[in-house]
Amino acid sequence: MQRPSSSSAIIIGASMAGLMTARVLSTHFDKVIIVERDLVPDMPQARKGQPHARHPHILLAKGLEMLDWYFPDVITAIKSSGVPFGDMTESMQWFNRGGYRKRFKLGREILFCSRPFLEWKIRREVLNLHNVDLLDGRTVNRLVTSLDNQSILGVELQPNQGDALPQVLTADITIDTSGRGSLGPKWLEQLGYDKPAESVVTCGTGYATRFYERVFSKNAQQDWVFVTPDAPTERRMGGALPVEDGRWMVALSGWHGDHAPTDEAGFLAFAQSLPAPDVYDLIRRAKPLSAIVQYKFPANVRRHFERLHRFPEGYLVLGDAVCSFNPLYGQGMTSAMLQAAELDTLLKQRRGDYRGIRKPYFNRIARIIDTPWQMAVAEDFRFKETQGYKAPGTDLVNAYMSRLQRTTHRDAVVGAALLRVINLLDPLKTLFHPCIIWRVLRHGLRRQ
Ligand SMILES: Cc1cc2nc3c(=O)[nH]c(=O)nc-3n(C[C@H](O)[C@H](O)[C@H](O)COP(=O)(O)OP(=O)(O)OC[C@H]3O[C@@H](n4cnc5c(N)ncnc54)[C@H](O)[C@@H]3O)c2cc1C
Repeated sequence: MQRPSSSSAIIIGASMAGLMTARVLSTHFDKVIIVERDLVPDMPQARKGQPHARHPHILLAKGLEMLDWYFPDVITAIKSSGVPFGDMTESMQWFNRGGYRKRFKLGREILFCSRPFLEWKIRREVLNLHNVDLLDGRTVNRLVTSLDNQSILGVELQPNQGDALPQVLTADITIDTSGRGSLGPKWLEQLGYDKPAESVVTCGTGYATRFYERVFSKNAQQDWVFVTPDAPTERRMGGALPVEDGRWMVALSGWHGDHAPTDEAGFLAFAQSLPAPDVYDLIRRAKPLSAIVQYKFPANVRRHFERLHRFPEGYLVLGDAVCSFNPLYGQGMTSAMLQAAELDTLLKQRRGDYRGIRKPYFNRIARIIDTPWQMAVAEDFRFKETQGYKAPGTDLVNAYMSRLQRTTHRDAVVGAALLRVINLLDPLKTLFHPCIIWRVLRHGLRRQ
């Protein structure tokens, strides 16, 4: 089927998922319009609609690969703006399950920049595309439909300033990337459709984050630091990332309500209570550059759009609006990029024809989400307080994973296999390859 002569797309939300979707759709549609509730300044700044952006964001190696694919110049531009980077595992000091992971060269880079900085660089690239426009300071109130409610024709938007009347914006397709709090399920229900079923797995995660001055001297710590717990007996973690403008971004977190406080003494005491002293040693004499900000994340939430039998034409959902994972595993941005890339592949296979796309699209992104979802919720199920659907065999897999994690203290082969899976480069099953199982067992026997 041929594309219409002039085609257009609306994207709700100008955060990471919205920007990646705009980049993808710009090659398939004549016009792409992003509608964003916040005013979006041309600078690296967290907005009201994304309070999470004030906390550390690591782009996994698979996400960096996607970024390079869709924006070939952006990584060089980011590096040349003074953002620290290096081999992901050579530059890490990661204490996990009673020991430091062995350092080695993974051959995969990591960029250390704040989320607003990364997003700003990507946004500039997207808004430079000739056929992408941003309408900021406007909230999408509802979806606009055909008379029979079978097709989404666009959105109604309300300018935030003044007493302007709502406007209707039409397009061939509307993509909802409005995040975890998306009103999409409610809008669908109002139009007579079922809401998607939700999988909810609690984690009760809390972040407390602060910037510190990074001192450049011969002996000063420059590598990134991670201290993660031996769950379930320990439940606190901390990290320090060397980010742009000569700063450390330090975050302390914990599961199920064990959260770092935002006062000076409480923050330091929490850092001191971590299973290894690295974060505390780094911040106890460092100069703070900001207040301590908190963020609470109650549960992993996955919306199963792929299970819906009835769904309107011309409407898709992507990013956190479909699935938001416990952020401690750093998967959200990469998952959104993979979903956008899948949409791209599908549109290419269909020569740009978006009609009837929703079934294959939701089925395919469900498969993409499966791996990070399984990894995130399995880790969260180490804690007895975690509620939600627990797949059979989770405890057994977790017991094996604990052994495997300890093996990474000494074994670079197992370390590389694990880091590749964590970074969504390889499927989970590679950790169950006989060669890896053998190394894990051998390490266990040697320890005994
Ligand atoms: C504390 C924390 C730390 C995290 N750390 C990492 C990490 O290390 N690595 C990683 O990959 N991911 C991480 N994530 C996840 C990551 O932030 C998200 O997956 C990512 O931001 C993708 O989100 P999104 O674009 O789908 O939604 P969001 O970032 O939530 O953006 C939604 C956008 O839609 C706008 N919007 C909402 N409603 C409307 C409306 N009605 N009309 C118009 N606009 C609207 C909002 O203003 C916002 O700009 C973390 C998350 C949290 C909470």
